[in-house]
Amino acid sequence: MGWECLGEDGGREVVDGKAEEQHDGEEQGGAWEEKEEEEEEEEAEEVDPVRVLTLPLQAHHAMEKMEEFVFKVWEGRWRVIPHDVLPDWLKDNDFLLHGHRPPMPSFRACFQSIFRMHTETGNIWTHLIGFFFFLILGIAYMFSPNINFVSPVQEKVVLGMFFLGAVLCLCFSWLFHTVYCHSEKVSRTFSKLDYSGIALLIMGSFVPWLYYSFYCSPQPRLIYLVIICVLGITAIVVSQWDRFATPQYRAVRAGVFLGLGLSGLVPTLHFMFSEGLIHAITVGQIGWLFLMAICYILGVALYAARIPERFFPGRCDIWFHSHQIFHVLVVAGAVVHLHGVSQLQAFRSSLGGGCAADTML
Ligand SMILES: [Zn+2]
Repeated sequence: MGWECLGEDGGREVVDGKAEEQHDGEEQGGAWEEKEEEEEEEEAEEVDPVRVLTLPLQAHHAMEKMEEFVFKVWEGRWRVIPHDVLPDWLKDNDFLLHGHRPPMPSFRACFQSIFRMHTETGNIWTHLIGFFFFLILGIAYMFSPNINFVSPVQEKVVLGMFFLGAVLCLCFSWLFHTVYCHSEKVSRTFSKLDYSGIALLIMGSFVPWLYYSFYCSPQPRLIYLVIICVLGITAIVVSQWDRFATPQYRAVRAGVFLGLGLSGLVPTLHFMFSEGLIHAITVGQIGWLFLMAICYILGVALYAARIPERFFPGRCDIWFHSHQIFHVLVVAGAVVHLHGVSQLQAFRSSLGGGCAADTML
């Protein structure tokens, strides 16, 4: 039985007393196993067709239906449903025609769905794996020997900002994709966390890069740090706006995070002009920074344009839709950035604490 039929069809069945009405939901959604529908049919046949129920009795019946629905979800007895029968708050990408989870107001069912095949499976796993990857790597960095650092505590805090941003971003993301189908309220709350996580990852990525690239120019370093924090917090505030998460605002979302990331162009150009292109590439690791930018920009572009599913509607329902590719590119971008920052850290460690007169590094 489809989700829609729980409220409406449940009521119709009681008032009209027609057992056939029960099949509406099955044709539309078919989220439940057939055995259950047969049981319901038997129940419906027992209802007197001429009996008109009073309002309290109808309410009681609706409550029973809801309990039954929650119980089925609790037991994990649900089937994927097509896009057109989804409630409005679950309709995000109309190029994914089938394979959606029905609304399931049970956290247990949502978390169990991690191990089932549906439109969100790839989205969940890409960032769940990325989350553990950065969590383990972050812990390893924090416990790495102090001898490898010039100022161990300071540098570990700075690198820790990046790991914190990455871990929070990936954690909020896989959690959001897991509980997205719970209910409108839960989906809205977690989508705000998900968007805030992206801003945290971008802010966290700036911190160690600015720290090492402007090591010998503390004043511009501080100014850029303050600017990215202000911009990042602004992005977090904007993403608390309810309409920000709606499909109509997909391009606005892409624009906000693209703008936040691209604000890094100013310190990058500053760095390149003062260091010279060759030095910026060889010592300054600017190539890795550009590769990271390519990963993020490509990911955001695919996300905003919904490529490839727009060209193959219904073919990318489970695998290779734009959101999954975007997720993979976010993890790839963060890995590339970590590599670049590690190289900068190793360079600083090889130099010691002193600053040469002609460089900012
Ligand atoms: Zn996502």
